[in-house]
Amino acid sequence: MKRMDASATPVRGTAGDAPLVVIDHVDKHFGELHVLKDVTTSVARGEVVVVIGPSGSGKSTFCRAINRLETIDSGTITIDGEVLPKEGKQLAQLRADVGMVFQSFNLFAHKTVLENVTLAPTRVRKRSRKEAEARAMELLDRVGVANQASKLPSQLSGGQQQRVAIARSLAMDPKLILLDEPTSALDPEMINEVLDVMVGLARDGMTMIVVTHEMGFARRAADRVIFMADGRIEEEATPEKFFDAPQSPRAKDFLSKIL
Ligand code: ADP
Ligand code: MG
Repeated sequence: MKRMDASATPVRGTAGDAPLVVIDHVDKHFGELHVLKDVTTSVARGEVVVVIGPSGSGKSTFCRAINRLETIDSGTITIDGEVLPKEGKQLAQLRADVGMVFQSFNLFAHKTVLENVTLAPTRVRKRSRKEAEARAMELLDRVGVANQASKLPSQLSGGQQQRVAIARSLAMDPKLILLDEPTSALDPEMINEVLDVMVGLARDGMTMIVVTHEMGFARRAADRVIFMADGRIEEEATPEKFFDAPQSPRAKDFLSKIL
């Protein structure tokens, strides 16, 4: 089991070898419910981490905490040398550096595909419309939906919408992309077109944390699998090791049900 030491001295700035994300002894409750239990791990630059585990094990909360869509009770989350603050301008900046793709696409329904992709770069990154549109078209082309640019999201298939959502997050030039079950809401025939885009991103060196039940994707693209159960990281290993020789009883049980 490969486990990086995330409790090492935090490094500030953009040192090449320092992990991009360090999650150190993080705990989180929802009322009485203890949803993240002493979660410690780190993600290297360019690394693709797949998070799997039973429903309710805390995978989404883990992702949302990294983006500060959820607060944490204790511990620290550091992105590129900066400890995630509770609020304020610095938080907005850090959040802009972390792309997020949700199960439910979450595109702006009353804006065109192109507007969906240019909105944040023009407002948050203060790019000119022209520059933002040129970059958006490039990204839409990369995910294979450039010809849909002037349509509304509702005119697209689920797979196309999710590819737009990925292009939208890339438009901010994020340091990291979190994808929380990006294919779970898709009809089966659309899953591969989204997974293929994700594999392409992984090959291009994007740092990604992906919550998914797509074990084929994990085997193809992940550098590491994190298995969560009941709010804890139960096991961390390369995909080969995890799928072929899971160590913990919970991981064995989980895999026996899904494989
Ligand atoms: P997963 O993504 O692995 O299915 P979640 O992180 O969504 O798990 O949820 C972990 C636990 O926290 C579950 O028991 C869930 O019901 C609970 N939970 C999630 N979000 C909230 C919330 N906003 N308020 C209260 N409980 C929540
Ligand atoms: Mg979830």
